[in-house]
Amino acid sequence: MGYRKKYSKTITSDSSIRHVAVRVDFPYFRIPVSWSVIEDPDVEEVEGKNLQDERWVFVPEVKSGPIKQLDPFKLRSQFLKLDIDDEDQTLDFLNYIGVWNINEQTGAGADSMRIERAVGHRYVSGYAAYFTVGELKRAQKRAEHQMRQLETNRDKLRASFGPPPHQDAEEVDHLDHAARTRALNDFHFEWKQQPIGVIQAVTGHEMLSVTLQIDLFTGAKVDVCEKCHVRFTADPKRRYCNDLCMRAAKQKEHRAKLAEMKKKLFALGHEFHIPKGDIKKASYEKFGVASLTKLKVGQLDELAVWVANKAEQKSKYKNKKWEAKTV
Ligand SMILES: [Zn+2]
Repeated sequence: MGYRKKYSKTITSDSSIRHVAVRVDFPYFRIPVSWSVIEDPDVEEVEGKNLQDERWVFVPEVKSGPIKQLDPFKLRSQFLKLDIDDEDQTLDFLNYIGVWNINEQTGAGADSMRIERAVGHRYVSGYAAYFTVGELKRAQKRAEHQMRQLETNRDKLRASFGPPPHQDAEEVDHLDHAARTRALNDFHFEWKQQPIGVIQAVTGHEMLSVTLQIDLFTGAKVDVCEKCHVRFTADPKRRYCNDLCMRAAKQKEHRAKLAEMKKKLFALGHEFHIPKGDIKKASYEKFGVASLTKLKVGQLDELAVWVANKAEQKSKYKNKKWEAKTV
């Protein structure tokens, strides 16, 4: 109760600063791009870098199609589990996410990379950036590292989103900071019944920064997907990073259960000297299948009952014979 009271006041005890509590939405808007990969044979060996990874370049071609809204958290999971060495998979991912980063300097790319349009509430002007396989791999490593920090060392992560560097800092640090906060600089209100704050990411780069900061803001817990082991955040807590992993895991569980049931079925048959062939034949006749692997859990249950009945008949017969002998 105290929580609500404290934060619903629009003016804090410090009368010089006003605070408002607002709902914030953070959609991702995809700028359509068609990606291709080209080889730059002039790239020379740099120590500590894989030459092949620096030689292959992802090149964007900006399209004029409609802007699509996507879930930034799902995009992050997809990026974290992306196998960048798989060219088809990576191109599919890039085509899905759209622009990865924007270079605002004039003449920073070919005409086919130029973006000059309204995207959601933002006006985007610049060039879709191209980058090497190596750069994308480094971005993925960095994102993985940040997810681990989110899990175990939030203070460190918070510090990386702190105030701008000191004015004497290197230019590259100023640029780095500005690039990191770019998406959040475009915070604005959409006036519906209530004003809703909107932070809108339009590049993969911004998506990574916004999702992390929203996670810090909400105190999100980090989960590790039980199927693909990627780190992700979800509310409420989930076992899998997406539906695909959930379905794959459920299917695996299901197959393991079937295998276990089949094993028990044959063990039961073995105990009562009912040959495997008889059990198989009975299942083909009962359920019209050509293989035991086609049976469902319920059908295997039925088959177990059949084996048990058969075993009971056999033991009755045995007992009878035994009785006959002893009488
Ligand atoms: Zn997963």
